[in-house]
Amino acid sequence: MPSPDAAPSDLVVFAAHPDDAELCCGGLLLNTVRSGRTTAIVDLTRGELGSLGTPEQRTKEAASAAQALRLTHRVNLNIPDGYVRDTDDNRTAVVRAIRQLRPQLVIAPPLDDHHPDHMGTADLLRQSFYLCGIKNYLPALPPHRPRALLHHMSTRPMNPQVVVDISEFIQERMDAVRCYKSQFGVKQDKDFPVRIASEKLLESIEATLKYFGSLIGVAYGEPYTSELPIPATDLLSLFDIEPWKDH
Ligand SMILES: [Zn+2]
Repeated sequence: MPSPDAAPSDLVVFAAHPDDAELCCGGLLLNTVRSGRTTAIVDLTRGELGSLGTPEQRTKEAASAAQALRLTHRVNLNIPDGYVRDTDDNRTAVVRAIRQLRPQLVIAPPLDDHHPDHMGTADLLRQSFYLCGIKNYLPALPPHRPRALLHHMSTRPMNPQVVVDISEFIQERMDAVRCYKSQFGVKQDKDFPVRIASEKLLESIEATLKYFGSLIGVAYGEPYTSELPIPATDLLSLFDIEPWKDH
């Protein structure tokens, strides 16, 4: 973990497995860096239950993807894969990570998804979020209150409160996903194929991003939900994208 006096990260994505953040939030991460802010990913597990590749390969691939996304920090909490849930120990680990990275905005998986670890991560973040600001909880680290917790898209239909224009970064975003050479576009076992290995998965992700982009009038968009209303002082600045403008 970064030390408490390390440079803070304005945006932190929590992910159950290395590659989840790239699959779901790569555009937002790149866009945030371009605007002069700092970003981090906290992977909760090493993905050791994965059917493809090894945890060691995945660790190397995650480091390459971190460079591709120009992250300031990438850390792994080493929770066992398949066992991510809201426990006291896991809350402590999440609170410690947030207090060390001091983000303004935290992104978690959706509360409803196909994978129990993704839902476990979402639930764990939701439960830990409040504790980050309680100074007598883990008093060794100063309290920190991020401004918001948003949830990214995964494999369930969603109705987002905000869609981020990521058109400029679609290629870099997909390049970061392709850093996971052991996971995507690899040879499949005919008897029990691993679905995520199919190149069709990456095509479907691009198609989904295209669809959400179409809702705000841009080529590609990443959708996010919030359990609370998105606050605004200057409402007009929220609508600064001119739909379908050709540059
Ligand atoms: Zn995952």
